[in-house]
Amino acid sequence: MFLSELNRRDWLKSLGLGASAAALGAVGLAPRDAAADFVTQKDKTTGKLLDGSQAVPCKLGEGGVVRPSAVVPTISETDVLVVGGGPAGCVAAISAARAGAKTTLVERYGHFGGLATGGLVVHILGHWTKEGDKKVQATQGIGEEMMKRLEDLPQGIVNREFGRNPTLDAEAYKYLLVEMITEANIEVFLHSWAIDAIIDDEPSPETGNPVVRGVVIQTKLGPKAILAKQVIDATGDGDVFVPAGAAHTQRMYNIGLPYRIGNLDRAKPEKGGKRARFLGDVTPVPGVRWVNMTGPSLDGVDVKVLSELELKHRKQIWKQVQETRSTPGYEDVYLMETAPQIGVRVTRVIEGVATLKLDEARAGKKFDDCVGIGGAWHGDHIGWQIPFGALVPKNVENILTAGRSISGEPLMSDVIRVIPNCWVSGHAAGAAAAVAVQDGTLARAVSIPKVRALLKEQKAYLGE
Ligand SMILES: Cc1cc2nc3c(=O)[nH]c(=O)nc-3n(C[C@H](O)[C@H](O)[C@H](O)COP(=O)(O)OP(=O)(O)OC[C@H]3O[C@@H](n4cnc5c(N)ncnc54)[C@H](O)[C@@H]3O)c2cc1C
Repeated sequence: MFLSELNRRDWLKSLGLGASAAALGAVGLAPRDAAADFVTQKDKTTGKLLDGSQAVPCKLGEGGVVRPSAVVPTISETDVLVVGGGPAGCVAAISAARAGAKTTLVERYGHFGGLATGGLVVHILGHWTKEGDKKVQATQGIGEEMMKRLEDLPQGIVNREFGRNPTLDAEAYKYLLVEMITEANIEVFLHSWAIDAIIDDEPSPETGNPVVRGVVIQTKLGPKAILAKQVIDATGDGDVFVPAGAAHTQRMYNIGLPYRIGNLDRAKPEKGGKRARFLGDVTPVPGVRWVNMTGPSLDGVDVKVLSELELKHRKQIWKQVQETRSTPGYEDVYLMETAPQIGVRVTRVIEGVATLKLDEARAGKKFDDCVGIGGAWHGDHIGWQIPFGALVPKNVENILTAGRSISGEPLMSDVIRVIPNCWVSGHAAGAAAAVAVQDGTLARAVSIPKVRALLKEQKAYLGE
């Protein structure tokens, strides 16, 4: 008898795994080793033989490597295409979809949340502002809805008291985003890396600027095109507005790698009379803390830099955790998880129609096209208005940006980039793109009263 014809139970028995393993297998809980590969061979498809003639490889030539031209298949046509499923991109997509636009969201990883989940940046800073003696929550709308819904999930968020900066759980937030994005009926492409912008062959008759018509994504099946009426670059790094030709500045900022440690509930600091050094901050999960890292200010889009820092940071984290474990009373603490996504804070920032400036923000400058209010670290200042112009590149049409890449002078970066402010600029971008689609206008020419009305309908706070 061939082994593949053996009864599954007999086979498990012969491995000494017996009835309990067989029972586990029946409900899909068997350890992977218990399911020998060749027993299941007959369930596998035979596959399709391809002779390789369809490959279009790059070639050596012209003193370098040449990429041959090829027609890119279109896999979707949509109204609003949001690229990047981080805090800004998710809120942008949800806002546009709720406003009735056919919305598509592209993300290079297999989950949503960007740095707030994959980067283990879980502390929600800067959504409070001061009005006279009163503290006011500047981040409302979809950002506030997210925090509220996290409260309803077990171990979803802590420190949600008035005036405090809460901390969320990365897994709870990943789950919530799946829930909200599917509820909004958004078309999703995960594992899809945006690699190019698609530009119309005619410039805009109104402005003479190039017009973005979509994005090329890299997938395991090769490059694919997604066509769109409006595009929002929420990649954080301008991966779409840069190839589209938008003017931008390139910045260097601290690149770190946060991590989580566990078993803090078993720590007995009284044992050695000394608190360990790298204990980070509280998370919603008892006994688990997250540890932030500053890191050097280098170029966060240079693959050599990123590779070097991954190696360096991982060594540093391991050392830090070992130091904690060798502190008397902290022997049980362990490294739960390093962020799968390196912590790039700021890279490319658009040259916008308007640019946020620190002095003006501090002085409470008002903008006619205000589409949101930003907060800062501990809410001890007045709210600063976010003008729509900070989301609009000077020289390219039908692409907006949101999140950490909106237009601001370097001194504004520290507040622009915090998660709640990315929710707010994402909300504004999504609403504006939806209105531009509805009215058939260029993004830069969108009706600001309509955008503000939609934002208010979606419960955003515009300072009034
Ligand atoms: C180490 C560190 C600590 C921080 N600490 C805090 C803090 O304590 N509190 C706070 O509020 N903020 C903090 N921040 C800032 C905050 O986390 C980010 O600025 C914020 O998450 C930015 O949101 P975003 O949506 O603009 O971009 P991101 O969170 O970077 O999301 C961008 C998304 O786009 C995807 N993407 C990128 N390129 C492509 C592409 N080419 N194709 C498809 N998808 C793509 C990414 O995978 C990601 O999902 C910290 C940041 C870092 C790095």
